[in-house]
Amino acid sequence: MPQPGRREFLQYVGMGAAAAFLPLERQTPELVLYNANIITMDPALPRAQAVAVAGGRFLAVGANDEVRPLATALTRSLDLEGRTAVPGFIDAHTHPAVAGRMHLRMVDCNLPSIDAIIAAIRQRAALTPPGSWVMGFKYDDTKTSEGRALTRQDLDGAAPGHPVFVEHRGGHTAYLNSLAFEKAGVSEASADPPGGQFSRDPATGRLTGRVAERAKDLVEKSLPLTFSRDDYREGVKLISQMMTRTGITSVHDTGGTPDDLRAYQDARESGDLLVRAYCFIGIGHLDQMIAAGVRSGLGDEWVRVGAVKLIADGSISERTARLSTPYIGRPDDLGILVTGEDELYEQARRAHLAGWQVGTHANGDVGIDQTLRVYERLQREHPRRDPRFRLEHCTVVNDDLVARIKALGAIPTPFSTYVYYHGEKMQYYGADRTARMFALRSFLDAGIPATQASDYPPGEFAPMMALQSEVTRTDRRGNVWGPNQRIGVEEALRVGTVNGAYASFEEGLKGMIAGGRLADLVVLGRDPLKEDPSTLVTVPVERTMVGGRWVFEA
Ligand SMILES: [Zn+2]
Repeated sequence: MPQPGRREFLQYVGMGAAAAFLPLERQTPELVLYNANIITMDPALPRAQAVAVAGGRFLAVGANDEVRPLATALTRSLDLEGRTAVPGFIDAHTHPAVAGRMHLRMVDCNLPSIDAIIAAIRQRAALTPPGSWVMGFKYDDTKTSEGRALTRQDLDGAAPGHPVFVEHRGGHTAYLNSLAFEKAGVSEASADPPGGQFSRDPATGRLTGRVAERAKDLVEKSLPLTFSRDDYREGVKLISQMMTRTGITSVHDTGGTPDDLRAYQDARESGDLLVRAYCFIGIGHLDQMIAAGVRSGLGDEWVRVGAVKLIADGSISERTARLSTPYIGRPDDLGILVTGEDELYEQARRAHLAGWQVGTHANGDVGIDQTLRVYERLQREHPRRDPRFRLEHCTVVNDDLVARIKALGAIPTPFSTYVYYHGEKMQYYGADRTARMFALRSFLDAGIPATQASDYPPGEFAPMMALQSEVTRTDRRGNVWGPNQRIGVEEALRVGTVNGAYASFEEGLKGMIAGGRLADLVVLGRDPLKEDPSTLVTVPVERTMVGGRWVFEA
């Protein structure tokens, strides 16, 4: 381990930008961690043994014999006994607020078998008054051991006296039981609504229980999905507990509603907010925000207004991303452009001129190309210094797109856990495209600061799973997808910390363990740099610190 020089250490204490603003009493550490293997992500001091924390920030980082003497009678000192510490992870595209509300109200159906789902629904029904809805989410038809889809009969058996609604993880389909169809006013005689489908058994013509797209929207009107302001706050509390257990200390909530923004503020005020939130605002709410004089960056290190959220094309898991060549096995299908170029330009221009960061959901190469044209035109017509345009997901790329992303200084937020967790869906894209998807190697080689991003609930959020996925490009069954895009563990750590901070203009505040930065860190049970890449997902998160406080301890 390189021994940091005392000169560097003194520089951190006395001259760090943030330390200079700290009152004197805050320069006495509340906590010192020592005997640690600290991977700092700070190029000036990549490794350290000890860190002192004061006033929610790192006061000093260095060797044991440099930092430990700073402790006073009021300082707690903790021997980490050689454990590894890394900066807190930043999930740069996720939907925590709405996910938290779903976890509050719904059964988590991310289970290995239909039998297990039936048991979970039965258990919830036993606690629910007869006739009231039992709702589930995160069911994935490609991941249950029975190798078939959930049926109306399964759900009738689980809860005959309750209407049951189970949403697919992708969000575009759901599965109902007989009583749920009755409550929703759907019978065997009902016709499919335009743009939707009530799936039917080809042999009998009877409803199977599955509803898709507009048919799902229709039955959803009967669901008791109203949430009080307290529910919003409780949802944020719950999800922030779940995320900090895995080492996440900051989220970019790309859901984008003012109600969610309020929920984060409420949770913070009640002491329930454990992660820092950069809150996107959907285009539909932009005008009211501009009218109120709000723009990206307003707030503080806990709750901050993020980018405006625009949408160019469809999704990867539901296979509606707009591609230049068809999906495998569907020669006429290029996916969907959700917003035309002129409209996207008008939306982006309004936000750009009002000083907002712009983040556009763009998955397919055509969606990305169109979004880049909009950004390029904005910078030509209304140049702004350092706008940090974002490409949310930015999944399928090519050399030309990568070069343009670099030239613009734009930031992609590719799915981090997709290859490992959803590998079975990669077959629809084919080997050639797979080599250009979630293209971290291409981005990093071009000097583009791509981030870690889960898109939870559709994707899993554990940063250790992201590391394994990005480093191995191997799914849970051992299939390898696009090995040319593998990156190293240390690179993956940087993607998940430093780059996430940059994407929200907070690189001076967080992303590394360095003097003056926010005291956000994770203590791991094993060193990911020494771990076999195929077991990174099993590296235990033992403690998570946000703002100098342990928000999770195993
Ligand atoms: Zn998303």
